[in-house]
Amino acid sequence: MKEKEQTDILIIGSGLGGLVCAAILGSEGYKVLLVEKNKQVGGCLQTFSRDKVIFDSGVHYIGGLEKGQNLYQIFKYLGLMDKLKLQRMDENAFDKIIFEGDEKEYPMAQGYDHFISRLVEMFPEEEAAIRTYCDRIKEVCNKFPLYNLRIGEGMKEKADVLEIDTKGFIESITKNKRLQEVLAGNNALYAGVPDKTPFYVHALVINSYIESSWKCVDGGSQIGKILVQKIREYGGDIIRNAEVKSIVAENDLITHVVLADGQKLYAKHFISNIHPAQTLAMTDSHLIRNVYRKRLNSLENTISSFTINAVLKKDCFPYFKHNYYYHGDDDAVWNGWKYDEDSWPRNYAFFLSANSKSTEYAEALSLLTYMDYNDVAKWKDSFNTTSNIEDRGEDYEAFKIRKAEKLLDMAEKRFPGLRNCIEKYYVATPLSYRDYIGNADGSLYGIMKDYRDPLKTFISPRTKIPNLYLTGQNLVLHGILGVTISALVTCSSFTDLEVLVEKIRNA
Ligand SMILES: Cc1cc2nc3c(=O)[nH]c(=O)nc-3n(C[C@H](O)[C@H](O)[C@H](O)COP(=O)(O)OP(=O)(O)OC[C@H]3O[C@@H](n4cnc5c(N)ncnc54)[C@H](O)[C@@H]3O)c2cc1C
Repeated sequence: MKEKEQTDILIIGSGLGGLVCAAILGSEGYKVLLVEKNKQVGGCLQTFSRDKVIFDSGVHYIGGLEKGQNLYQIFKYLGLMDKLKLQRMDENAFDKIIFEGDEKEYPMAQGYDHFISRLVEMFPEEEAAIRTYCDRIKEVCNKFPLYNLRIGEGMKEKADVLEIDTKGFIESITKNKRLQEVLAGNNALYAGVPDKTPFYVHALVINSYIESSWKCVDGGSQIGKILVQKIREYGGDIIRNAEVKSIVAENDLITHVVLADGQKLYAKHFISNIHPAQTLAMTDSHLIRNVYRKRLNSLENTISSFTINAVLKKDCFPYFKHNYYYHGDDDAVWNGWKYDEDSWPRNYAFFLSANSKSTEYAEALSLLTYMDYNDVAKWKDSFNTTSNIEDRGEDYEAFKIRKAEKLLDMAEKRFPGLRNCIEKYYVATPLSYRDYIGNADGSLYGIMKDYRDPLKTFISPRTKIPNLYLTGQNLVLHGILGVTISALVTCSSFTDLEVLVEKIRNA
């Protein structure tokens, strides 16, 4: 058991946000302790293996990792860049957007000039609109200082771009419906919804992939493993299989957390890498007023997902270095998350995993589509992870197969022969994401940002309790890049941000 006050900073949850905070603050001389409920660290970075094939749970591709780009520079500072096994995606198309009834494949290429010229080939009349789109993305990204690894003026600098609506903006630059759909076609990357998703979210995400797009070879869990080594090198500790059940305050400060087995862990400061609403639900302190709780509880989460992870037969399905985003009807790009029993699924993302054994044939495919948590709510009382296997029952198994077969039927239409190449498949539902990652409703990316009230969905790393902080995807932005930047924001409460950014720039 940890002795009282031995730890400077206790971090709850070892998602990327927790790991990056631990690595940075460890290197700054703090004694850190990471507490993770799962056997495996990493949260969404976790990989799992089925029939000796590796699958990612929540990292299919990463942007910004070319030398000199934002994530490259931070990952270099964190000691990741010379260790990660990466594969650059197809420079002509990291994503291809495809539609029911349209044979064409609309490419999203890497590098702005290339991105523009490839789209102009498909839409020769629309060059001006495509250029306006790219200019606006760059302009908006420039307003986010940390994203550009510089110190800025906080909210003031970006205030005038927070209220731009993604769908509205795209519709304002072109009347061409197909181009509008293509530009928003990979919006599953941020679970985009009409009349809500701010353009800054679209811009920060898409810009990083246009700059450069990468897959982790043999899975994204390597990021977590390398960070764990770093944390240990700096004298930090990690406890796994340790679920925090409550965060205890005494005299206006958090003193300790209590684990599921009753163990108490003390520290001077606490950072929570889990959802802010779940963090507050575990914290009983008069400093957290009901209005603050209500505000956080009222924020809507992004929708959850349903994924088929298919083991492919040997030397059967060709490997390619791009993803597909398929839309099954006219309205599916923006409204694929609205469906009924008959219309589901309306779209899907198609990801092949990069593996070190073959670049000619794929061995793992993930097909991801939206699914609302309510679809599986009737099994919500069952809990299932590698260390706690509960049978959710035959009707749940039947539900998974029924849904998976529908999704496969849709994919087979566009990729004839795909079914024949599938050896076996496994399914992840919103309950799998809930249990393995820890969001209460299996939400893809946590709190949904809203351009109509942007400040409401901006979460500060500081809470009303002076030694309790937040980090992770619910702060600045989700995704590997967004969470890494959110971690810098959290670390700024402990270390001089200007100095830290300088160190990152000079890494
Ligand atoms: C299906 C899917 C696909 C994705 N694809 C991509 C992609 O291709 N590219 C990309 O950039 N991003 C992608 N993302 C998003 C990205 O993976 C996440 O935004 C990011 O990894 C979240 O990191 P985080 O630090 O917020 O924490 P999380 O990954 O949410 O981790 C939180 C951690 O806290 C732990 N925890 C929870 N409760 C407790 C508790 N009580 N006690 C102790 N520990 C606890 C959890 O077990 C977990 O390890 C995807 C996400 C999903 C779900």
